[in-house]
Amino acid sequence: MNKRTKTIIWILVAVVAVVLVGFLMSDILGGATELTFSEFMAKLQAGEIQELYVDAYNWEGYTIDAASGKTLAAYSTVAPSIYNYADLMEFLNGLGAGVAWPNVSFADPNAGSIWSSILPLLGVILVAVMFFFIMRSATGGGNAAMNMGKNKAHVQSNLKVRFSDVAGAEEEKEELAEIVEFLKSPKKFSALGARIPSGVLLVGPPGTGKTLFAKAVAGEAGVPFFSVSGSDFVEMYVGVGAKRVRDLFDMAKKNQPCIIFIDEIDAVGRRRGAGLGGGHDEREQTLNQILVQMDGFETDEGIIVMAATNRADILDPALLRPGRFDRQINVNLPDVKGREQILKVHARNKPMSPDVNFKTVARITAGFSGAELANLLNEAAILAARKNKRTIGNLELYDGINKVLMGPQKKSRVVTESDKRCTAYHEAGHAVLACLCKHCDPVHEVSIIPRGRAAGYTMTRPETDDNDVSYNKLVDNICMSLGGRVAEELVIQDVTTGASADLQHVSDLARRMVTQWGMSDKLGLVAYDSDQPVFMGMEYGNQSRGGYSQETAAAIDAEIRRLISEAHARATKLLKENRSIMDNMSRVLVEKETIYTEEVALLMKGADYKEVIAFMEERENAHADNPFAFATTPSKEHIVEEPSETTDDTSENKDE
Ligand code: ADP
Ligand code: ZN
Repeated sequence: MNKRTKTIIWILVAVVAVVLVGFLMSDILGGATELTFSEFMAKLQAGEIQELYVDAYNWEGYTIDAASGKTLAAYSTVAPSIYNYADLMEFLNGLGAGVAWPNVSFADPNAGSIWSSILPLLGVILVAVMFFFIMRSATGGGNAAMNMGKNKAHVQSNLKVRFSDVAGAEEEKEELAEIVEFLKSPKKFSALGARIPSGVLLVGPPGTGKTLFAKAVAGEAGVPFFSVSGSDFVEMYVGVGAKRVRDLFDMAKKNQPCIIFIDEIDAVGRRRGAGLGGGHDEREQTLNQILVQMDGFETDEGIIVMAATNRADILDPALLRPGRFDRQINVNLPDVKGREQILKVHARNKPMSPDVNFKTVARITAGFSGAELANLLNEAAILAARKNKRTIGNLELYDGINKVLMGPQKKSRVVTESDKRCTAYHEAGHAVLACLCKHCDPVHEVSIIPRGRAAGYTMTRPETDDNDVSYNKLVDNICMSLGGRVAEELVIQDVTTGASADLQHVSDLARRMVTQWGMSDKLGLVAYDSDQPVFMGMEYGNQSRGGYSQETAAAIDAEIRRLISEAHARATKLLKENRSIMDNMSRVLVEKETIYTEEVALLMKGADYKEVIAFMEERENAHADNPFAFATTPSKEHIVEEPSETTDDTSENKDE
């Protein structure tokens, strides 16, 4: 409904504009020269005007050739409304103008207003427009939808956005470079039978540049960019969303190669049947239509569908199947280095004072997204302008930071230095234990950049596809998962709520070891619980399913507690023995925020934090020669790693 009102308003605006332009045109066509009132009066007093026409909003004066009676010139000016000779004389005499007055004619005061001539016309148009809309909706939602659908998708061609406008996301650029190549010459790929992903899902928190990335891909490839938002689809009547999707894809097919970008895809792509009420609602039909359209792609079609969401876990699994959004790219909050680069990109067109150090600004803006950094620079520029300064200085930047921090959603996400240190120790605890326990997967990445509800994360990646989970592996996993909590106990001598997700994970694992996998000697090789997930509201049935007694329940609890406390003791011992490694790692984390396999290896060999930071900076500088360089074809190593990135094999430790 809201949309319709908007459309009507737009039509009215257009009508008014056309009418006004028409009026101006008629004036121009009439050849009247626009004068200021005093210029007009000068002409009048100089006797250049023989005929004066006074109407409601302006005066027109004509120079008449006395011999032929032809109009030689016409002037107009905005002047007071006067409707009779006496008033006019009084007005002119009041101005002290004493000349021979020209012939004067007056507009009819009632007909004089331009509105009086336009209003009936407007009325007619209005009625026609209303009639048109009533007809439209009377013939069913379908037509209205077609109309809306067409209006909804934004098309942008010749986008000027390039990868160089997206700062600090080299890995993502590399992954997307392949898509750019494909869009530039789809035939080249299809001739070789290569299957190019038809859908790319960009996952990350708001403001991290997902839209910017999609635009940059279109810009780099020089293809049109069709964009819609998932939330646009939801508010309409049944059938409209699906129709819109169809129209969008039809339009895209006529403009290949191109990119379709669906922002906030979770608005339509939420797991089906999970909501209360369920059923075939509008959202579901829209989602189905997206799936149908994506399945309908021919291999040689040059359409890439990109979608953005901040929650991949709530998406319907059907969306993620091969041939649909089978490529997933995580776009995370930037780390220090990334923040510095983003600040530099956005400072490109702003005069910055020479004493501004982006490194410092980057350091104190932990937790800021790209959008927030852009916003902070903008606030700083506004402040500088209000102070009549020529350049933006540190003072304005710090005020800008505060302004962004005070923003409505930001408050809860401020990351202070002491938060950072705490998270760093927590993650270092996980990472060090993952390295020390020989059955843990190798550590791939450790970060204190918030992700989802977690303050930081430690990512391990299996070396083989071996999915067998042994007793030793589980015990090590429990030990490593307790690492965060243990590190807090040792260092901060207090515990935070940060480990709640870890503890949940640990108790789940221990419970299943005892009740499902027969890994406890005390309870023996009996499965006390099936592997079925427990649905909400079904706990009451749980007890009878297991069918065990109170004593057994107590024994199970005791076994779980034993497993966990043994792991806790082991974790504490290991971390105490390797305290210096943990100290060094957390210092590097506070400084650099994210570290990878190489740095972890160095630290585990006993490297000092200074050494590791120097090592990282050297590598950054090597890249800095060509900061926006990205391989046009991804390296071999990358391709090999790709699959495990998207499968569940990658275990992540997230802490709330
Ligand atoms: P998202 O789609 O992830 O919510 P956007 O792409 O809309 O985020 O980002 C909003 C704005 O934030 C961008 O227009 C850009 O100005 C800025 N921005 C975000 N990330 C980056 C980045 N990596 N480099 C440069 N600017 C960025
Ligand atoms: Zn943790």
